[in-house]
Amino acid sequence: MIFTQRTAHLKPEGAYQVLARANQLEASGREIVHFEIGQPDYPTLENVSQAGIDAIRSGKTRYTPPAGIPSLREAIAEDAGRRRGIQVSPDEVVVSPGGKPNLFFPTLALVEPGDEVIYPNPGFPTYEAMIKVAGGVPVPVPLLESNQFSFDLDVFDRLINPKTKLIILNSPSNPTGGVIPAADLEHIATKAQEFDSWVMTDELYTRIVYDGLEAPSIASLPGMHDQTIIVDGFSKTYSMTGWRLGYGIMPKSLAERVDLLLTHSVGSTAHFTQFAGLEAISGPQDRVAEMVAEYQHRRDVIVDGLNAIPGFNCPKPQGAFYVFPNITGTGMSSTALANFILEEAGVALLPGNSFGDYGDGYLRLSYANSIANIHMGLERIRAAIQDI
Ligand code: PMP
Repeated sequence: MIFTQRTAHLKPEGAYQVLARANQLEASGREIVHFEIGQPDYPTLENVSQAGIDAIRSGKTRYTPPAGIPSLREAIAEDAGRRRGIQVSPDEVVVSPGGKPNLFFPTLALVEPGDEVIYPNPGFPTYEAMIKVAGGVPVPVPLLESNQFSFDLDVFDRLINPKTKLIILNSPSNPTGGVIPAADLEHIATKAQEFDSWVMTDELYTRIVYDGLEAPSIASLPGMHDQTIIVDGFSKTYSMTGWRLGYGIMPKSLAERVDLLLTHSVGSTAHFTQFAGLEAISGPQDRVAEMVAEYQHRRDVIVDGLNAIPGFNCPKPQGAFYVFPNITGTGMSSTALANFILEEAGVALLPGNSFGDYGDGYLRLSYANSIANIHMGLERIRAAIQDI
C-alpha cells in the first residue's frame, strides 16, 4: 500500500463519472441530454463578471487575508445575517474558494478520530469523504420521501448520543430538492443542545426555493448560533461555479481555526473573485428572482413529465434544481436503469445510490437545463422505458 488509510476510501463524485461516459458517447457521434451535472446553465450576471474584470485590471491580483477581504466579510455578515434574522459579525465569516473548504475545514477542526458524525443519506458525497478523512465515524440517517426527504427522526433519535460531535444538515437538499420543515429543525436543535453536538447546515441552495416558500435555517433558532456552522456560497445563487467563492459563518474561535487551515492549504481565495462576489451581493437581485421563477417552471414540467412515465413516482421538491423520482415501480435497480437510460435513450442522469445506499430505488436529475432539452429528455426516457 503506497497511500494513506485516511485517503483510501475516497471516490469520485458520481456526476463526474457519468459525465465522462456521456462525453465518450458524444465523441462517438451520439447526441446526449445532460441531467447529471448540478450547475446552473445561466451565465454569470454581466455586472458581476464586469466587476471581476475591473478588479483584475485594477491590480486586485494579490494575496488577501486568508479569511477574505474585510469589505466582503462585512457584506456577507450583513446579508447572510439579515436573511436568517440573526446578528452576524464579520469575524464570524470565513471566505473560501467555493463552499467546499468550509465543509471540510470546520470538520477537520472539530472531529477527533472516533467522534461520530450524523449526516443525510442520500446526501452530498463530500460529507462522508470529509468525515472519514477527519477519522470520524460516519453515521448516516435515512431520509423520508413522505416528508420532503427530511431526516427520519425516529432513526435520528436512536442514533444521536454523547459521542455525536457533529450533525450535518442540507436544506434545500442535493440530491432530493427537499426543504427541511421548521418543526423538524426545532426537534434536531433540541437534541443537538441536549447532546452538546455541533450542527453544520449546508445552505448552498437556500435562495433557490419555490411557491413563495422560505427555507428556514436552524441557525435562527434560540441558542443555536453558538454551535452552528452555516455554509453558503455564490456558485448556485449567482451562477458562479467556476469563480470558486463560498463562505462559512461560525463562532469566532472556530473561524480562527479555519482561518489557519486556509492559511496553510489554499492561502486565500482569489483576490478578484472576492470583488466579483461583493458586486453579486451588493448589486441588483432581480435577476436571481427571475432565475428562480424559471427553475420553478422547469421543475413543474419535469415533475409532471416524470410522473407520466410508467414505474416512476416523482415527489414535487420545494427547492434546489434537482428531482429525485422513486423508480422502484420499474422493477430495475437505480444503477441498471441509469445505465439503460444513458445507453439507450442518450439521457445522462445519476442513480440515487451514488449519494449513499439509502438512495437506492431513486434517480437524480438536475433540471438546470432548457425547457426544450427537458422535453426532449423526458420524451426519450418515456420511449426507452416502453421498450423494456
Ligand atoms: N453543498 C452542496 C449540497 C452542493 O451541491 C455543492 C455543489 N455541488 C456544494 C456544497 C459545493 O459548492 P461550491 O464549492 O461550488 O460552493
